[in-house]
Amino acid sequence: MNVQFSKPPVPTAFEHDEFDDHENVLFARDRKSGLTAIIAVHDTTLGPALGGCRIWPYPSKAEALTDALRLSRGMTYKNALAGLDLGGGKAVIIADPRQDKTPELMKAFGTHVERLSGTYITAEDVGVSPEDMEAVAEKTRHVRGTRATGLGDPSPFTALGVFEGLKAAASHVFGSSDLTGKRVSVQGLGHVGFDLCKHLHEAGASLIVSDIHEPAVQRAVSCFDATAVKPEDAHRVDADIFAPCALGGVLNAQTVPEIGAKIVAGASNNQLQTTEDGVALKKRGILYAPDYAINAGGVISIALATPGGGEQAVRAKTLAIAETMSAIFSRAEEANRPPEQIADEIAEERLNRRP
Ligand code: NAD
Repeated sequence: MNVQFSKPPVPTAFEHDEFDDHENVLFARDRKSGLTAIIAVHDTTLGPALGGCRIWPYPSKAEALTDALRLSRGMTYKNALAGLDLGGGKAVIIADPRQDKTPELMKAFGTHVERLSGTYITAEDVGVSPEDMEAVAEKTRHVRGTRATGLGDPSPFTALGVFEGLKAAASHVFGSSDLTGKRVSVQGLGHVGFDLCKHLHEAGASLIVSDIHEPAVQRAVSCFDATAVKPEDAHRVDADIFAPCALGGVLNAQTVPEIGAKIVAGASNNQLQTTEDGVALKKRGILYAPDYAINAGGVISIALATPGGGEQAVRAKTLAIAETMSAIFSRAEEANRPPEQIADEIAEERLNRRP
């Protein structure tokens, strides 16, 4: 049948730049609660698509769609690389979490998640609290990180995974994972950054710390005998390892030429502003630990926690991040390519192995 349009058709999700053969994209509305959400199921080859729900006052629905498509694809790679039998998905709710969030809104979201029959499993992300997830759980079983299914705050596992990955990087560059006397610049001393400092301090590393929140800096200085620097100097200081644990985009055209360390290994998401910045790091001889590989401890804890706990399985999988990182570094060196490209390739290989 030949469909006639009186004016050029509006592009759909299929024509979107970030569309990558997503299996399902659900546009969810509930007038009564005011819910407007997009749930993107990118790939369920390895299992149901696990990915958090983000509540954000997106300036436009188009930007919300961009985020849902991009982040759900990212979860496919992250879950595959972490060795989880889970696919990738993400949900975004267009709302201001400080003003618009109500139990009714969260329940309406839960109803839509339930309609996806378990192909998407939701969890907390930016703007969503454990209480919100309890409201979602009233309408669907397909939710993780609630009191009934979780180990609580995933940050300690994220920090543990980053610590293990950082040691793998040290072993690759310095020939030993022993951190005694190694100088590590930790930027951002929040949930993950502070816990990472604890591990590093116990391992005998010498800490250089920074945060925009002064009390966080003072706490780290007194707990770990750390040296404080300004946040904007964190990447520049004379250190062996730079660990970004605050913001994304810290590795960019301005910072990469100034980095003083031989290794960049930290928890922040989306550390590379562009793919060229990864290439530039490699050219400078700096080993970059791909963020989504090294910071997977949190998603591992959300995925593998059970009503009974599941802490042992979570720890084991989190500790295995070290092996994944070593495999990435060795292959990157052999192929003379940036580690983030190799990480993507290893994730794709796991996806392609499934019939
Ligand atoms: P958080 O909000 O608890 O801590 C972030 C810290 O960074 C805060 O102390 C904040 O004051 C500080 N900060 C903000 N801007 C800064 C700047 N310009 N310079 C220096 N410090 C700055 O967050 P978190 O849970 O510790 O997460 C840290 C990073 O790791 C984020 O990028 C997050 O997306 C990523 N991450 C976290 C987890 C997790 O389990 N929490 C999992 C994966 C990735």
